[in-house]
Amino acid sequence: MSEHHKVIIIGSGPAGFTAGIYSSRALLDTVIFEGNQPGGQLTITTEVENFPGFPQGVQGPEFMEQLRQQAQKFGAKSIYENIVKVDFSHQPFDIWSDRQTHYTADAVIIATGATARRLHGKGEDKYWGFGISACATCDGFFFRDSNIYVVGGGDSAMEEAHYLTHFGKKVTLVHRRSEFRASKIMIERAKSNPKIDWLLNSVIEEFLGEENFGVKKLTGLRIKNVVSGEMYDVQADGVFYAIGHDPNTQTFKGIINMDETGYIVTEGKTSHTNVKGVFACGDVQDQTYRQAITAAGSGCMAAIDAERFLSDHN
Ligand code: NDP
Repeated sequence: MSEHHKVIIIGSGPAGFTAGIYSSRALLDTVIFEGNQPGGQLTITTEVENFPGFPQGVQGPEFMEQLRQQAQKFGAKSIYENIVKVDFSHQPFDIWSDRQTHYTADAVIIATGATARRLHGKGEDKYWGFGISACATCDGFFFRDSNIYVVGGGDSAMEEAHYLTHFGKKVTLVHRRSEFRASKIMIERAKSNPKIDWLLNSVIEEFLGEENFGVKKLTGLRIKNVVSGEMYDVQADGVFYAIGHDPNTQTFKGIINMDETGYIVTEGKTSHTNVKGVFACGDVQDQTYRQAITAAGSGCMAAIDAERFLSDHN
């Protein structure tokens, strides 16, 4: 059994849903594969303050639900499956989901986004989910009156550290350098928060913990100062990663052109990939801006490019 659609969008963040809105408003039969994380990264974010049109901010999950409804209003259909294999060597394109279902499409828009990085340090696997997390919004609540550490020096680290002070008795930001990648306003906000401490030029060497009657619990961290080489242990109840993301492009390796870090390469100011009829938008092709608004904008571009491609080829 196979199912054909004019436009298949793989991914359901701001890029995928915006592509869905534009594609379905162009009266193209459109489906959106929502993948492993329906709604994408913003569903594990607290407040989105910088999307134009929301002067009071908007909660990430609520915002994504609005985008989904807007795409569905014009006829786009969501399918809650994960795409695991594609063949773009001929038209129509072949696509398979993790449910072994086969789909074909005349145009494909890749909007698979990026995934939070991990440190892969000693003890990480053991205590992952037992004190180590990559989602402050999801897990912050579990660390009330606790000693929390946040790793990273970008906007996410500043935002998460600030957010986690609502729960923890103290939040310590661990960063491997003394300079920050984060924007000035975010650094200032974090610096003016008296509950945030700073461990700069420092990395986590090991995650320490205990296991009682099969119950694991993170209890501390072995910290290394990368300038002095000094190593010491600190007491810690929770660690949150905010160290960036990797593009979700494994399914397209060897099929779609990517740069050396795995991001999809698009042509000039368009969403065209090296395969005619396959387009890419959002964080999967943008290592520089990675904002909800830029992802949404590029989703719009991808749908317009797909619509033009289809009208030229039909
Ligand atoms: P970034 O890539 O900007 O920052 C990642 C941070 O993690 C860097 O400080 C980096 O250190 C550090 N890091 C990376 N790998 C490791 C490692 N293995 N060990 C230790 N530290 C590591 O990612 P963000 O998620 O912070 O931000 C992504 C984008 O989203 C940015 O464009 C940002 O502006 C935006 N954003 C905007 C927000 C807002 O406006 N409200 C909120 C959150 C994000 P180093 O600097 O040394 O490389």
